[in-house]
Amino acid sequence: MSRPLVAILSGAGISTDSGIPDYRGPNGLWRKDPEAEKLVTYEYYMSDPDIRRRSWRMRRDTDRLAPEPNAAHRAVAELERSGVPVRVITQNVDGLHQLAGVPARKVLELHGTARAVVCTGCGARGPMEDALARVEAGEDDPPCRTCGGILKSATVMFGQRLDPEVLGNAVAVTKACTVFIAVGTSLQVQPAAGLAGVAADHGARLIIVNAEPTPYDDLAAEVIRTPISTALPALLHRLSTMG
Ligand code: ZN
Repeated sequence: MSRPLVAILSGAGISTDSGIPDYRGPNGLWRKDPEAEKLVTYEYYMSDPDIRRRSWRMRRDTDRLAPEPNAAHRAVAELERSGVPVRVITQNVDGLHQLAGVPARKVLELHGTARAVVCTGCGARGPMEDALARVEAGEDDPPCRTCGGILKSATVMFGQRLDPEVLGNAVAVTKACTVFIAVGTSLQVQPAAGLAGVAADHGARLIIVNAEPTPYDDLAAEVIRTPISTALPALLHRLSTMG
């Protein structure tokens, strides 16, 4: 019997043990604070230099916390190293799956990454680290060094579309997988949430690991409510020894 292709859809809940709050979910911090939400809304960001200055300050302050992968991220990386084919589809922009050791090509970042910046003028990309160093050095709204255009984090802001290529790859992985694990996501934000339904429709074993009920629990073969940092390592260990 061939080994299963495991797809893991991760949301904010996998990173809260790394000290990263849920910013953008339906009950996330940004949704509860309209002023904070403006900092990550494309229209405001592009039109208001003051919003950009506040946004850079927020990113600098977040970056100083230097979040590290937790046991759940490490368990995903261990499963991948054990030889089980794994693909990660994540709603998170923190890059912690890759930092834990999952190869970047096996991680699909639906909402982009906060570890890079992109120019809204010419599309040039660069490390977030360099942009934040410029902010630290006194540039409160650092422009693109190539064309002078407005720089932003390489995340999908509110009001921006998801990258169709990343989304297409996520759907393909979801249709091909034999096990689909939704972890730390309330499965309330489309299109990521719909992937759980697509997985079940295509015969994958759907496993949901989340503290709160989700709209897809009835479709799941297994629903796990215990804390992610203990539940996911146990679950993935079980999968890796199934052969
Ligand atoms: Zn540029």
